[in-house]
Amino acid sequence: ENWEVNFDHCKQVNIEFENVKYTVRKFNFQERKFVTKEILHGINGAFRAGELTAIMGPSGSGKSTLLNVMTGFRATGVTGTIRVNGEPISTNSPSFRELSCYIHQDDLLRPLMSVGETMMLAAHLKLGFNTSKEYKQNLIKHILTLLGLEHRYNVFAAKLSGGQKKRLAIALELISNPPVLFLDEPTTGLDSSSCSQCVSLLKKLASLGHTIVCTIHQPSALIFEMFDKLYTVVDGNCIYQGPVRELIPFLEGQDLVCPSYHNP
Ligand code: ADP
Ligand code: MG
Repeated sequence: ENWEVNFDHCKQVNIEFENVKYTVRKFNFQERKFVTKEILHGINGAFRAGELTAIMGPSGSGKSTLLNVMTGFRATGVTGTIRVNGEPISTNSPSFRELSCYIHQDDLLRPLMSVGETMMLAAHLKLGFNTSKEYKQNLIKHILTLLGLEHRYNVFAAKLSGGQKKRLAIALELISNPPVLFLDEPTTGLDSSSCSQCVSLLKKLASLGHTIVCTIHQPSALIFEMFDKLYTVVDGNCIYQGPVRELIPFLEGQDLVCPSYHNP
């Protein structure tokens, strides 16, 4: 039996999307009829393997909605084409679910389980009981080391710092080594050093071949430069998309970067 953990590469997944729209339909009790509201107005782009992509924009602009649509978390009311490695797919199909994971803004960890126990429970659930415990233990050690959490193995999740909780939420998803990671505001609420730690971790995962997309509310100049690609969403429209390095000259000398206001 092979207990070797090979985590140095993953399947390369490129996602392309065209004219993605999302409309909600709600019952209006005053007017006693259904009303529809378009929230995303036709977004185009591509998330590529090995790239770290940021989706930025003010609160309420549609960042989480775009992630919800791309992960299949919202499927009703979505139109447009989404292709994975050239094949049109439906984001809520089981095959796409296997390729991707979604780390929500508030991932609820079990407070009274240790980091090691939380990871082992997830390993049993994701890998099944046919995979040996030794393999799972090796894998868990490997992931926790990659994420700098190995020294917290016996600590209750409740006792972790904000940054460590975020990393544990990522560690849980890495058990099934998904090629695509979607993260909703992974840096919100973290101090600046945990924030750059978190982004450099995502950068490291991208360099292993993962496709990584995260929403960011207000990036500091420090983390901004670590992203490869940027999408700026305002009121459900993508007003800028492109490589971050093209923006950097425009942002010289600024403390806080909010590219929505600096659309070159
Ligand atoms: P962000 O994550 O950028 O802060 P969201 O994607 O959460 O913004 O929301 C964008 C807009 O879409 C908001 O105005 C929100 O109220 C609206 N919205 C999102 N989902 C729904 C829904 N299911 N029903 C009604 N409105 C929604
Ligand atoms: Mg949001």
